[in-house]
Amino acid sequence: MARLTIFILLLVWLLPLHSSETVPLISLRVRVHLVQSVANPRLQTTLKEKEVRAIFDEVNSIWAQAGVRFELEAIEDLQALDSAPKRWYIKDRNWVKAAIPTNQLSLTAIDVCFVKDMGPNGFFYGEPVVVCQNPEFHKVSGGARNPVARVTAHELGHVLFLQHRQDHTNLMASGKNGVSLNSQEIKDARKRALEIVGQMPQP
Ligand SMILES: [Zn+2]
Repeated sequence: MARLTIFILLLVWLLPLHSSETVPLISLRVRVHLVQSVANPRLQTTLKEKEVRAIFDEVNSIWAQAGVRFELEAIEDLQALDSAPKRWYIKDRNWVKAAIPTNQLSLTAIDVCFVKDMGPNGFFYGEPVVVCQNPEFHKVSGGARNPVARVTAHELGHVLFLQHRQDHTNLMASGKNGVSLNSQEIKDARKRALEIVGQMPQP
């Protein structure tokens, strides 16, 4: 009888582990914009399609822990608006955001724009996500291999309504290359991902 009780207890203990491995995958579409600009060379990314696909391979390996996958709808050049960066040194993000023509963003996907250089490594405060191809941060053990993939995965965390959390190995820590998410972040991100799937028009 005691053995049976131990067996049942063990089974109950193992079951949640097993079910977390079989969590349904949530797919979100992403459209990548390679920002081009002759007037403002800082904006012009040198990333090519092959590098973007490698970046998203790593983004998806980071987000696999939450059962969320980002599918590339398209990778295309995006001509920046020729807006003068009058006060970019104060509010760099706003200038970069203002140079992106919003009428060319996707209605059916999360938009991710890559630029060559800017103050922050990346930002998202409403569409689109903008990622710098030369981010700077401290390495932590077990962190992302590709710094740009880490920034992209972090900003997509903001898209999924995750806030910063300064645990140094966490994906949502700033200035580090950690990639881990805790169970609450996974739960919250999946909830928001399902809402996006429900709200976004189909292509
Ligand atoms: Zn952030």
